[in-house]
Amino acid sequence: MTGKQIYLETFGCQMNELDSELVAGQLRALGYQFINDRDAADIVIYNTCSVREQAENKVWSRLGEVGRLKKRGQDMVIAVIGCLAERDGTSLMQRMPQVDVMCGPGELDKLPHLLENAVKTQDGRPRDEDGARLEVVALQGDTSRRTAVLAAAEDKLEMLDFSRSFDPDFRAGTSGSAYVRITRGCNKFCTYCVVPFTRGAEVHRPPDHIVEECKRLADAGVIEVTLLGQTVNHYRYEHGAQVVVQGIAQPQKGRSYKGGHARDPFSSEQTTTFARLLHRIHEEVPAIQRLRFVTSYPRDFGDDVLEVMRDCPRLCRYLHVPVQSGSDRILGKMNRGYTAGEYYEFIDRVKQYLPDVMLAGDIIVGFPTETEDDFQATADLLRRVRYKNCFIFKYSPRPGTVAFDKIPDDVPTDVKRRRNNDLLAIQAEISDAVSREQIGKTLHVLVEGASKKTRKNRGEAPGQVALTIGGASTSPDGEGTGFRTSRDREGAVSPSRQANAIAELEVQLSGRTDGDLIVMFDGPESLQGQIVPVKISDASPLTLFGELVGA
Ligand code: SF4
Repeated sequence: MTGKQIYLETFGCQMNELDSELVAGQLRALGYQFINDRDAADIVIYNTCSVREQAENKVWSRLGEVGRLKKRGQDMVIAVIGCLAERDGTSLMQRMPQVDVMCGPGELDKLPHLLENAVKTQDGRPRDEDGARLEVVALQGDTSRRTAVLAAAEDKLEMLDFSRSFDPDFRAGTSGSAYVRITRGCNKFCTYCVVPFTRGAEVHRPPDHIVEECKRLADAGVIEVTLLGQTVNHYRYEHGAQVVVQGIAQPQKGRSYKGGHARDPFSSEQTTTFARLLHRIHEEVPAIQRLRFVTSYPRDFGDDVLEVMRDCPRLCRYLHVPVQSGSDRILGKMNRGYTAGEYYEFIDRVKQYLPDVMLAGDIIVGFPTETEDDFQATADLLRRVRYKNCFIFKYSPRPGTVAFDKIPDDVPTDVKRRRNNDLLAIQAEISDAVSREQIGKTLHVLVEGASKKTRKNRGEAPGQVALTIGGASTSPDGEGTGFRTSRDREGAVSPSRQANAIAELEVQLSGRTDGDLIVMFDGPESLQGQIVPVKISDASPLTLFGELVGA
């Protein structure tokens, strides 16, 4: 057991959160401990994001802070993992020579070995007259884009993903939710996006591994699983073509096809399509009360998936389907592979199959050459689709992307800002209306825990009480808290249990509906990780307020 203490901070998307959770599990099994006090840590790991400029700037600032600690003589191994490590490679080390370890998302299985080497190397280095260690040795994973060769090789990353399935010490977090990756990488190459370069080619995990992981999570107390993929609905596993290494089926490179299909064109008995995978998990792991998935790509979204969503009650009526622009010209420049008309057709199909669906979207404003007409087309789309919420971003060129190199960023900053504000105002009105439509309804809410307001009133800083990784909370020393067995795991709370719980001190709780609406209500914290009925009495654009039914 190493006894070394690690501080781990995660930036960016759910994919990064899951990577952090898996990496933490792997390191914990090797004897490392996790703490919340960065400055007291032996090892500081930043799991980075390069998709948004803001997240990247935060990482640079954090690296500056820990770099100064090292310069003052503090022994500390600094590791940068995730997309920034993959994208910047050696230039990151030149800018931040205090960094000891870099490891891209495709090489995370090597992280324990790299950290161990870095600790040993550091411990053996002499100090200068100021007490700082001499020489910096930086280690890094292979930062090359993974290729088709992967399909014929043993995939160590699969073992990292699969590790929760055979970890006897795995414990669910108190929230009752967990992420399960089903695909890695992306083949779409949108011109503004760095992901295909940092996370590599699209690779699909074997369905048996995914189902097994869901079963394991359910046994550990998880009642909500979110399947993750950059283009999650593009999942497809062809059994006749699978590669087996030492008895273990390996992930499989995604077959590319042009979109517009209302049904998976390669569906056959030999293929586990995305629709079949959803159905399998729903049928084989009934203890998972809620099954959701992000992020969907509008093209290639078949009726077969919508049929499964309609027919399987534990599949959440929620879709996050980024559109990015309502202008065909801009969509073309972004290389999105669909027109606004095709997106509208897709949304119409969704609403036909799932009239009560909640939709979320992403939009980029101010993409190069965007005219007022292009922008108005986007504003029209926003009004027509009626997302319950939409992530609206001002375009900023990201190094490593096609747009950064080839498309001049020619929309002035003030124009981007005005368009961004206009879209935010439209979306705020829609979100408010969608929220108000819920008043008077009784919705089932998965309780995530005490609300931010409750925690603030108690004087808890975020992260002070629990280190949250990938939707699972762990105590500061890294051990899981609030572990519940599968016997506790019924979706709805029994009346006697509810009565006992209500006798406890009530605080403001926060949770989510199956349509991903945020709900605040008063109740005992022992309801955390359970699904309870809440009658909605009030609403703001992004939050519903209500009372626990039966309280
Ligand atoms: S679909 Fe486009 S935006 Fe999404 S990860 Fe792939 S390249 Fe990036």
